Amino acid sequence: MEIQTTRLAPSPTGALHLGNALSFVVNWALARQNGWRVLLRIEDLDTPRVKPGVIDQTIATLRWLGLDWDDEAPVQSSDLDPYVEAMRTLSSNGFVYPCVLSRKEIAEAAGAPHDDSGEISVGASLRPADLPREFHDTGTNWRLLVPDREVEFIEHFAEKSSTNPARSVGDFVVWTQRGQPSYQLAVTVDDARQGITRIVRGNDLLDSAARQTLIREALGIAVSPHHYHLPLVRGQDGRRLAKRHGDTRVDSYREAGVPAERVLALLARWGGIEDAGDSISIEDFANRFQLDTMPPEDVTFTPEDDQWLLLAAAR
Ligand code: GLU
Repeated sequence: MEIQTTRLAPSPTGALHLGNALSFVVNWALARQNGWRVLLRIEDLDTPRVKPGVIDQTIATLRWLGLDWDDEAPVQSSDLDPYVEAMRTLSSNGFVYPCVLSRKEIAEAAGAPHDDSGEISVGASLRPADLPREFHDTGTNWRLLVPDREVEFIEHFAEKSSTNPARSVGDFVVWTQRGQPSYQLAVTVDDARQGITRIVRGNDLLDSAARQTLIREALGIAVSPHHYHLPLVRGQDGRRLAKRHGDTRVDSYREAGVPAERVLALLARWGGIEDAGDSISIEDFANRFQLDTMPPEDVTFTPEDDQWLLLAAAR
């Protein structure tokens, strides 16, 4: 049987929180159970400026949780050539165009629906009449022409396995005005060139799976990765876990002296491992986790959970 490859793809924002940790640990457990090769890929493009030391800190947090990997991909920003090459292919096939409009102008022209990520919907009415056939860095965004249809992808966990990106974001950005590929382009190009066949991540990226499928189709990439879009961890207000919910960074528990096994026990409870108790090793997590008994609903992180973690802090 052909070896499958997955990736741990943290963005080095310095704030790996419990929601990210759930996805990474489940990803790693599935890899262990199924014999997938694991690649670590630091995604430092299309994020706020990466502060020195944050990449090492991100890696240290993953290791503290007990994760390991077979290989490390080059940090994305170290070589932009593969993404420029992809842009050339997209433009010579007539799939992209530079968009000189500001967000405000788009908002005014389009009545401006936008998705969770804040990306503004751009539809056919704003496309230029002639598409340039040659990509060059124009200092503006470049957008992909998005057809108005359901786009299907292979999904093994979430209920949905298709979305229509024309309805959520319309023509989305593939090359940013900062002279870098967008997250959508970088991930698609990297997954293809790094032979990624299994993608495990939070369900906030479900619509991205359809967008990335469109990019793959436009680039003529034949491999369709298999996806597992997992429940998100939310605060009590129902919003995705973030700074507003207090300090839910894995590192803040680590610094407070909470053992990794305690954090893993909370993740195990969320992942549907019965009787995970107060503490579980990463090996036990991988042995006992079962995807088909993981509750599909998003998880709520409560102040009691926070207290429960801190009870185990070494004093
Ligand atoms: N780097 C992204 C994040 O941390 C993950 C992207 C992906 O898995 O496709 O949210």
